[in-house]
Amino acid sequence: MSFTAPKGTYDILPPESSAFLAVRDALSRPAALAGYEYIETPIFEDTALFARGVGESTDVVSKEMYTFQDKGGRSLTLRPEGTAGVIRAVIEHKLYAGQLPVKLWYAGPNFRYERPQAGRYRHFTQVGAEAVGVDDPMLDAEIIALAWEGYRALGLGGFRLLLTSLGDDTCRPAYRALLQAFLRDLDIDDDTRRRADINPLRVLDDKRPDVLAQLDGAPLMVEHLCGPCAVHYDDVRARLADIGVQWEEAPRLVRGLDYYMRTTFEFVHSGLGAQSAIGGGGRYDGLSAAIGGPALTGIGWALGVDRTLLAMRAEGVGLPTAARVQVYGVPLGAAAAERLFGLTAGLRAAGVSADMAYGARGLKGAMKAADRSGAAYAIVLGDRDIRAGTAQLKDLRSGDQLAVPLDSLVATILEKLT
Ligand code: AMP
Repeated sequence: MSFTAPKGTYDILPPESSAFLAVRDALSRPAALAGYEYIETPIFEDTALFARGVGESTDVVSKEMYTFQDKGGRSLTLRPEGTAGVIRAVIEHKLYAGQLPVKLWYAGPNFRYERPQAGRYRHFTQVGAEAVGVDDPMLDAEIIALAWEGYRALGLGGFRLLLTSLGDDTCRPAYRALLQAFLRDLDIDDDTRRRADINPLRVLDDKRPDVLAQLDGAPLMVEHLCGPCAVHYDDVRARLADIGVQWEEAPRLVRGLDYYMRTTFEFVHSGLGAQSAIGGGGRYDGLSAAIGGPALTGIGWALGVDRTLLAMRAEGVGLPTAARVQVYGVPLGAAAAERLFGLTAGLRAAGVSADMAYGARGLKGAMKAADRSGAAYAIVLGDRDIRAGTAQLKDLRSGDQLAVPLDSLVATILEKLT
């Protein structure tokens, strides 16, 4: 019997895995530069946290959760997104009692039982950032700009920022009723009618031509914002304009998670087909209270690492593929191997990445491995060299070789590499 990775999952293999790490780092670096600190929360949480935090009526909660009972009879769920767990941790550890805003970033896998297709997996990785506890439109602009910076730093050009405001508890209920009244008169199927009852904003996102055609005159949230929400949204856009972040107004943008209010955004990429969202986020001022915490405001995003990589591939943006190691040891015989084992450890202690041929491969095989490793130098060592107290240091690009005393080998390599 043999096994394959479960449906909807995939292995991230070398050499592409180094690009995966590079993307994860590049997307989180702007947040770290803005004072966001790293947080890691469990991969599973109480099921009720997501039900209450993300929203019972969302697809994520009602259809896509990996929920299981542990041996203690608790209902647990593999996290489908990161924000609920992070806010749970902020509340549990009273991080809000210190300096505000609490600025956090994180990275890790998420799990959703979705129908797998290109760019849509059941196990995928996000980098996330959250700013909690201060209601300032400048923070909205900051967080959006950090995501923008991350994509730009990777060399991506074909992405767009879609932006809107979803209002708040003052203006959304009245707008919701208005939209429901509009939807009630449409010629739509029972399923859509039910959706209009539970979550009418989701109907605005319907892509079917017959529904789309009827949505033309639908009332839009941005046209019905209350005074404070309108001012907030204007401020966010003014600050984005100040720092040269470009956006498109997307009054029909809806997100798959219920907690968003006011500023809401998505980054989409033109090279990805149906699964075009490479990241998204927004304000979630009601989330903390909804999961039993104090009334804390918050704004954040989650950027998809898998899809960002696909977007880079679609654009033909290359990542510098780093050599696996800088130096590779080629031993000729057992005594030389033992000596090289110590030498490579010494190189690593000096900050030089080094590997060697294990398993008595012979000169030809070991030299081939040295070439494949991408190393700049090979250390070739035989019994005669040991007796002479030297090693052959071979420049793998030029082919030049010179004998270097064993006790100054690390220093010589350090010198050559800088
Ligand atoms: P969300 O948490 O739904 O707002 O998603 C944020 C980002 O995570 C999206 O823009 C995608 O880039 C990524 N993402 C969400 N779901 C998936 C999935 N099933 N497979 C791959 N990436 C995903």
